[in-house]
Amino acid sequence: MGKASRDKRDIYYRKAKEEGWRARSAFKLLQIDEEFNIFEGVKRVVDLCAAPGSWSQVLSRKLYLPAKLSSEPRDCDHPLIVAIDLQPMAPIEGVIQVQGDITNARTAEVVIKHFDGCKADLVVCDGAPDVTGLHDMDEFVQSQLILAGLTIVTHVLREGGKFIAKIFRGKDTSLLYCQLKLFFPVVTFAKPKSSRNSSIEAFAVCENYSPPEGFNEKDLYRLLEKVGSPSGADDLDCSSGWLEGPNKVYIPFLACGDLSGYDSDRSYPLPTVAEGTSYQSLDPVQPPIAPPYKRALELKKASSNGLREQELEKLSLDS
Ligand code: SAM
Repeated sequence: MGKASRDKRDIYYRKAKEEGWRARSAFKLLQIDEEFNIFEGVKRVVDLCAAPGSWSQVLSRKLYLPAKLSSEPRDCDHPLIVAIDLQPMAPIEGVIQVQGDITNARTAEVVIKHFDGCKADLVVCDGAPDVTGLHDMDEFVQSQLILAGLTIVTHVLREGGKFIAKIFRGKDTSLLYCQLKLFFPVVTFAKPKSSRNSSIEAFAVCENYSPPEGFNEKDLYRLLEKVGSPSGADDLDCSSGWLEGPNKVYIPFLACGDLSGYDSDRSYPLPTVAEGTSYQSLDPVQPPIAPPYKRALELKKASSNGLREQELEKLSLDS
């Protein structure tokens, strides 16, 4: 699909470039904020799975840039934004970047170190694996990312803080809801207008972090396993027996973003331009600096330049 026809087919893709966002995902976070006011009283944030960085841009514009103008002392009240991703990201003002895997304990330690002494008010996670199309598998891998995010949450988030995480809606959604409810009394699943209806993604908006009394971070996975077992966390309405029949849970689900606004599944005509000129599509705000497909393109080019099979094999092994 050409850039201009994508501009027409995907209004949020076009708007992102016009407003200087690196990805259309920025609108998802902005629309979640419209509904849940997630930035109220927030100074310190962790952005998990942040590349190419549109959520970090939102955080920088909302939290860092306004505070930069004031001369507040550098203490726990000073804005701190730490962004992590497997992929490298081009710099964003006021955002500390860490390249690493959030499921790896060492990455978690690096993040935690940045919050030494002060805790975060908000953790956001827009992580998504490379989708295989095998729905059960994709949902499982996605839930592992959320649980890795929750592990980081239990170390860095202050009591009363918020956690926003991308989820894939599927048959285990109720289980995930119950697991999150162990730590957050208010959990809502939200679907921003900018997230296509055809996509199974939604966002868990978890408010008022309150870990169970006597909670030990090391026991996180043992505690999560208890959810759904008859002897497990009895104070949860979804814990007695399994999630069927009368035990079924109804998950609060909200559409967010101005409902009279753009529909992400619709095509919109391109803006009209002066007579005699044609619409000029904008370039992406920040092209990826090390996309996974870069190597494939190099190999393709080398192959069309007549490199022998063994040389190509050596190139792909080196990568
Ligand atoms: N929120 C981002 C933005 O606004 O630009 C978009 C995030 S993109 C949908 C999903 C990201 O998750 C990818 O950049 C991918 O590299 C990252 N990711 C997936 N698994 C990860 C992992 N285990 N650790 C760190 N990042 C991961």
